[in-house]
Amino acid sequence: MKRNLDTELIHAGEPRPRIRGAVSMPIFCSANFEAGGEESYHDLTYIRLNNTPNHQALHQKLATIENGEAALVTASGMAAISTALLSVLGNGGHLLAQNCLYGGTHTLLTHDFPEYGIEVTFVDVHRPESWSDAVRENTRAFYVESMTNPLVQVGAIDEVPGFCGKHNLVSMIDNTFATPLNFRPLEHGFDLSLHSATKYLNGHSDIVAGAVIGKKQLVEKCLHRLNHLGGSLDPHACFLLHRGLKTLSLRMERQNQNALRLAGFLASHPSVGRVNYPGLPEHPDHQRAKTLFKGFGGVLSFELKAELSAQSLLSALHLPVSAPSLGGVETLVTRPSTSSHSGIPRDERLQMGISDSLIRVAVGIEHPDDLIGDFEQALNSL
Ligand SMILES: *Cc1c(COP(=O)(O)O)cnc(C)c1O
Repeated sequence: MKRNLDTELIHAGEPRPRIRGAVSMPIFCSANFEAGGEESYHDLTYIRLNNTPNHQALHQKLATIENGEAALVTASGMAAISTALLSVLGNGGHLLAQNCLYGGTHTLLTHDFPEYGIEVTFVDVHRPESWSDAVRENTRAFYVESMTNPLVQVGAIDEVPGFCGKHNLVSMIDNTFATPLNFRPLEHGFDLSLHSATKYLNGHSDIVAGAVIGKKQLVEKCLHRLNHLGGSLDPHACFLLHRGLKTLSLRMERQNQNALRLAGFLASHPSVGRVNYPGLPEHPDHQRAKTLFKGFGGVLSFELKAELSAQSLLSALHLPVSAPSLGGVETLVTRPSTSSHSGIPRDERLQMGISDSLIRVAVGIEHPDDLIGDFEQALNSL
């Protein structure tokens, strides 16, 4: 019988029989394991080969919760993204990619890949009619994100798998912001779903990890590539991710609710200008997000009215921590113009819609009344 996500988060991948009866998955600290007659290098049990009991349990859990045939856990989100792209593209490959991407991914594509003879064309995911012009003979994959940072836009991602099928491309999506609770890309036909497990999947801002989930044959290709590149997750971090995953539903549901309430409050405050959150009916991608996603996620951004200082607001907030990253239980605030997007020339940044006063909030699981109360006192103090 098919079980619900909440149940699978707890029970999928748990060893049967339980190891010495342990209710919680033990940590296997052994780097190497006694040989058992394996024929292939990739089948020897060794931490770098991503096949210790801690890796195996996690792979099964991750595959199950996103409804994939297989999964692979990696040493960081960037290890998942770089390994998957290198596995799919090969030498001389060409990639179609969303024009607004996580900064680390954008830099990988524009700075590192050209040195390996890999070319990239950026496309507007909101304009599917423009995609086919960008396809070349050597195009191998199309790479998108379920929600963008920090404007939380949702492109026509549901049209990507069909387009890829027609042009014989591998469809890849970074599903970090949506999480399997809000969106399961493989059920919409994507070949590979990637995560920075550092964020919501782990949820406690205490490890860096990544995941690749999807078709068995593609995940295996990524596994062998990762075995050679060496970006394996340590069993201690596997244990923390395994533990964090069990509460993903509880945390994410609260984060969906908190962000929706905070976005509504901010939109109604006289000191606030634009609020970017796909859960608000006035967000340009609201209808698409409502159709595709179960919830609208925990990230929002907003601008203050022109004469007010974003830095003063950050200083007046007591609860949120001023820090990069997202997906933990605590609320974080950042100014993208001075952090994630500070490397982009100001004119270009403004054109992308990222003004100097834009504030990004990664909402945590605090009580919504306390969060809203804190934003209210801080806004009223300006
Ligand atoms: C954080 C993040 C990454 C990179 O993940 P790391 O775990 O920091 O390597 C990739 N994509 C998105 C959308 C992210 O938020």
